[in-house]
Amino acid sequence: MSNNYQVIVIGAGPAGYHAAIRAAQLGLSTAIIEKWLDASGKSALGGTCLNVGCIPSKALLEASHKFVEARDHFADIGIAVSGVKMDIPRMLAKKNEVVAKLTGGVASLLKANKVTILEGTAKIGAGRQVTFLPHSSGKQAKAETLTADHIIIATGSVPVEIPPCPLDGKLVVDSTGALEFTEAPKRLGIIGAGIIGLELGSVWSRLGSEVVMLEALTDFLPAADQQVAKEAARQFKQQGMDIRLGARVTGAEVSPGSAGKSQSGNLLSRKGKSGKAKAARGQGGQVTVSWSDQEGDRQESFDKLIVAVGRKPCTADLLAGDAGVNLDDRGFIQVDDYCMTDAPGIHAVGDVVRGPMLAHKGMEEGIMVVERIAGQKAQVNYDLVPSVVYTHPEIAWVGKTEQELKAAGDQFAVGQFPLAASGRAMASNDTTGFIKLLADAATDRILGVHVIGAHASEMIAEAVIAMEFGASAEDLALTMFAHPTLSEGLHEAALAVSGHAIHIANKRSSKPKSS
Ligand code: FAD
Ligand code: AMP
Repeated sequence: MSNNYQVIVIGAGPAGYHAAIRAAQLGLSTAIIEKWLDASGKSALGGTCLNVGCIPSKALLEASHKFVEARDHFADIGIAVSGVKMDIPRMLAKKNEVVAKLTGGVASLLKANKVTILEGTAKIGAGRQVTFLPHSSGKQAKAETLTADHIIIATGSVPVEIPPCPLDGKLVVDSTGALEFTEAPKRLGIIGAGIIGLELGSVWSRLGSEVVMLEALTDFLPAADQQVAKEAARQFKQQGMDIRLGARVTGAEVSPGSAGKSQSGNLLSRKGKSGKAKAARGQGGQVTVSWSDQEGDRQESFDKLIVAVGRKPCTADLLAGDAGVNLDDRGFIQVDDYCMTDAPGIHAVGDVVRGPMLAHKGMEEGIMVVERIAGQKAQVNYDLVPSVVYTHPEIAWVGKTEQELKAAGDQFAVGQFPLAASGRAMASNDTTGFIKLLADAATDRILGVHVIGAHASEMIAEAVIAMEFGASAEDLALTMFAHPTLSEGLHEAALAVSGHAIHIANKRSSKPKSS
């Protein structure tokens, strides 16, 4: 094995593996070091995203959504089904199959691009030296010293733990544990109503849990457009999720139960009177959570508790004191707009640096960094990072929210289209939500697009493209959209900016607004 590379990437999550593949494409000799071990102790590539994040959560969201569709909505469109059952172990097995296929796929891609894969842990020292400690396979592992012209740190993030609620891996778990419940807890508490909490809450609520979410903030989804957030809160309430805002969790006490198996078994059957599928009662113990809200101190017991209070950058044991890489005051690796750290030749990308903790943001940073190493002039447009919540309805946005524009005193016009007026949404029997477009009042340039509705995650890409090209609302209004599609709603929202929407009774919704 060569000990010198042009590029060493540390971490094979989305940010790292994109960087490594692009580096190899550009002709740079590249190694990637990854320490992840899966539940069976095998090395795995793909990081949080593929192993315990984006992909497994979407597999469970998709399966649980289909379950609810079949159980509650098929009859309405003329498909008679009875005895719809959720087989949770099969659902988990399918999720694991998808994860295995994708993590294996990353390994194949790296090999096909001639990237050297090193399984073990990396630590950076002075002069761009990397100490690589391979995973030992029975024998004592021996550290090796590698050097690189360029190092790219892509070590990602890990869940935040809060002292009042230590994880026990059984009753109190983080997002990783919440992807592995083998049955739906009867009462499920979730601390944190952020994106991850909402997605996991949706999964288990659909599968029968009574979900209570405790959120310290008084605003719901504060980063989203508040009109969208309000509609989302209404929808989640209708679905039975009990989201309590202004509730700061201060403690959790676990009382172990009789070790017996819970009574529900694994096949959850058709919903009962309560509208919920049968869920597992907690003979496995209970966790009593304490929190305070404006009414004072409160307590409630749950069969399981998910701690979903955010993620923190993963830098533990990564940097020797003389590595020359500094952290910012929140513990992220300090970088400039091009992801350069304070140490020459060392870059950092993805969740371990500032900015939204999103896979696609890290992927683009990884690619930017290696293209710049290769002498190109790539950059990331941090103003246009799309955000998505994969609940039902989905929530997606890009650019500025109405409240941000008002706070900045900007004059803007609004065009909005309700999906209730969309032929495709009606034909799909799913008309929840709307598309909202914000355009500069003077120039008509699109400033933000906010979608709540089915397939919002796909629709938002059109808005990102339009904004990346500096489109005006009129540009979108003059563009032909296929009929019937949900995307036509974006077209209509763009038309609505100038009061020309065809499928809504046109009030001039475009009156310039500002604070
Ligand atoms: P990671 O994916 O965390 O990868 C970092 C890798 O570095 C890890 O494999 C780690 O083992 C390795 N590593 C760390 N230290 C070392 C070391 N010293 N030596 C060797 N290797 C090391 N984002 C989205 O965009 N869309 C979603 O739908 C979405 N859903 C999510 C759902 C859940 C439940 C969670 C938890 C996260 C979700 N995210 C989602 C966030 C997304 O997973 C992260 O933003 C993304 O994985 C960050 O990529 P990364 O490459 O920076 O880091
Ligand atoms: P996110 O960072 O989007 O994953 O969301 C995590 C959420 O957890 C944030 O909205 C926090 O306000 C919330 N949170 C953090 N600590 C607590 C706590 N002790 N009690 C309740 N909510 C919390």
